[in-house]
Order: sequence, then structure tokens, then C-alpha cells
Amino acid sequence: MKLIVTIIILLSILMCTLPPFAAKLAEDVHVQFTEVLPSELEIEEILPAPEPDKEAEVLAFDQPAELAMLVERAKSISMMSTDLKRLSVETASTLKVYLADEGVVREMKWEDYLAGVVLAEMYSGYGEEALKAQAVACHSYALHKMASGSYESHKGADVCTDPGHCTAYKTYDDYADAWGKASADAAWKKITAAVSEVADYILTYEGKVCNAMFHASSGEMTEAAASLWDCDLPYLAAVASFEETELTEMSLSAPQLKDKLSGLGISFTGDASGWIERAVRTEGGRVDHLLICGSEISGSMLRSRLGLRSTDFTVEYENGSFIFRVEGYGHGIGMSQAGAAAMAEMGADWRAILAHYYPGSELAR
Ligand SMILES: [Zn+2]
Repeated sequence: MKLIVTIIILLSILMCTLPPFAAKLAEDVHVQFTEVLPSELEIEEILPAPEPDKEAEVLAFDQPAELAMLVERAKSISMMSTDLKRLSVETASTLKVYLADEGVVREMKWEDYLAGVVLAEMYSGYGEEALKAQAVACHSYALHKMASGSYESHKGADVCTDPGHCTAYKTYDDYADAWGKASADAAWKKITAAVSEVADYILTYEGKVCNAMFHASSGEMTEAAASLWDCDLPYLAAVASFEETELTEMSLSAPQLKDKLSGLGISFTGDASGWIERAVRTEGGRVDHLLICGSEISGSMLRSRLGLRSTDFTVEYENGSFIFRVEGYGHGIGMSQAGAAAMAEMGADWRAILAHYYPGSELAR
């Protein structure tokens, strides 16, 4: 009788508290938890032990939030100890990737996917510790994307290879076609070695996987996500970056500037030297917005219209032209790849790099 009651309690908790989870994992799931774990349930009585040939691992946890994280990542859960502090889980070792260029969905191992993403997203000449940090960031970023909903553009897959939507992805052959076999061999060897060392790790914050954004390079500071969106993500705060600043410059005549900013409702009047005034900067030092002939234009809008590498720029009117001097490349949020490389060169390991660029985050596996 006690057994039946236990099963009923478990099933009712399962059906009531976490319907998305129940739907996703369906018959594989045999246990459930609540914020306060019910100590009287002897779950081992009703759950089968893991099959010996399954790649199940026993994981310990202290907090319900940690358990929630494990359950979120689990493909199946087969056993929980009587003290409800340990469970055996089989984590999903594969994911489905929509290869945007080919228009097909391919199932692949996480390790293979991550190697292809790091190959496409980061310069393989960077230090190994920077490549490892990148792999953990990409892993977390993908899981965060998967947890945030399903997308029609994924054609049923978990992630896609459109860099404008998820992250870029390259195969060894793609790389060899572009850079030659010798380069591809060296890059692939280095990246697969780095990925295999950290493939089990992800970044978490308060028990949830991090939206581990990253960008090519920053100036002296990265940018806080809160400067761009209405969000409260302390692990995406503005932090110092130790890289050598990458500077680019763009020169535009007054008519060129006017042309590129057409349609924004700006009435260009008076002498061009007085068109651009007062830039208001974000916490990370980037241009939040500025006034152009009295109209407020955001830094992001200006970046996109002019094709600037980042919103970390200054603008001056010199000899009849507007000179934009830009620092870094990318949105500036999360880990700077050039900064990660600089830290690796200074002797930091991947854990230190991630702890620096995602403050307050924790590693989980
Ligand atoms: Zn996508």
C-alpha cells in the first residue's frame, strides 16, 4: 500500500509541478522533487537501478536548485538514494543541429558540435585555456537557447548554425577548404583536445544555465547586458578586459553621413561641425546615445547604419569630415575572446577566465 501511495504521490507531483519537464522527458523520468524534498519517500523501492550498459553517473547535490539543473539536463533519471541526496542520471550526449547552409538536421555528439562551434567562432591560434573557456561558454549559450524555447527556424533541431541566431559552426572540411589541410589539422587537433577536457562543464547562475554571451574584442571594459536590455543578469556585468585594444577608424563626409542616416527623422541643418553633440555613455563606456541635430540616436543604431565594429567609439569633426575612432569588435557583452586570450597568455586557466568574464557564475557538470 505504501508503495502505491508513493507512486501516486510521485506521479501527481510530476504532473502538477513541472509539465514542460514532464512532457520533454516523458517515460524516462521516474522521480520528482519539490522545493522541500519529502524525506519519507523511499524512492529506491520503486525505481529500477540503472542498467549496467548505460552511461549513467551518480551525482550528488546539496540544493534543490542544483537538482533542478541536473534534471533539466538529464535524458533519464533512474535512481535516487534514500536520503534524496544522490541520483543517477544519464545526461544527453547528443543534440540535433540544423545545418543552415545545407538545410538538414543532423544529430551529433555534444563534443563534436562544440568543436565545430569553437572552430568557427574563435581564432584557433589563441591559447588552449582561452579555447576551453570558449567551449564552456558555447555549451552554456546553446543550452540556454534550448531552454528559452523552440524556434521554427530550427526545423525541429535543438540549435542552428546561423550565426545571427545561435552560433556559427564549421566542420574540419569547411576549414580545410578555406585555409588548407595543414592549418585545418593543427586547428582541429588543438580545438578537439581543448573541448574534450571541458565538454562536461557549463556555467550556471542561481541554478540556471547562463546565457554566456561573448564577443571578439573589447576596449578596456566589457559591456553590461543591462545597458542594452531591461534585464538583471549580474554575471553579464561590465568588467575590465586586459587585451590590447583593437582600434579602427572611419571617415565620412557630411553628405555621406547624411545619406547613411536617412530615414531616421533627423533634420540636418546648420554647419556640419555642430551636427553631432553630447554622447551619453553606458557603464562599460560605450555610446548609449548621442544627439544629432537635436535627434536622439542610439549607439547601436549608429553602429548598424555606419557599419562600425562596436558602439565603443568617439567622433570628431576634422577638416570637413567626421572621424569615428572605434575600439574593439562586437556587442561587448560577456567574454571578450581577445581578453580571454590575453588572460591565457598571462597564465590564467579556463576557470579563471570564465570567473572573470561571467562574475558570480558557477561551473556545473
Ligand atoms: Zn538558432
